[in-house]
Amino acid sequence: MPTVSQWWEYFRKGTQHYKNDTVHWDAWCNSCLKHRTNEIVQFQRVTSQSSGSAGVVMSYEDAEACVMADKTASFYMPGKIDRMVRHLSSCPNVPDSVRQAAALERFQSKSRGKENRPPTPIIPP
Ligand SMILES: [Zn+2]
Repeated sequence: MPTVSQWWEYFRKGTQHYKNDTVHWDAWCNSCLKHRTNEIVQFQRVTSQSSGSAGVVMSYEDAEACVMADKTASFYMPGKIDRMVRHLSSCPNVPDSVRQAAALERFQSKSRGKENRPPTPIIPP
């Protein structure tokens, strides 16, 4: 059973808080981020080769910074576990095992939520 911090293994934690959220950090899905960055790097390599203009290719780091600057990306989210797990459960870029574990976690946290809601508040002695 993965713990909260284990889900962070699949995410890049930002250095800032998400929008106006003072609790949650910026988070990007690592697999999607890598995938998108590689796409940009590959695309630039192809276009610079065909046009013959060398030196316009962004480094991987620069391309990644561009990807992370796009706050409309579907793999950019607040670092809330339920949001992260929800993304992983339908992420096309993570291994099947991760997607399945995330789907299971979503299912279990839903049923946990129901069980853990007592009909009356428990007052400590
Ligand atoms: Zn993803």
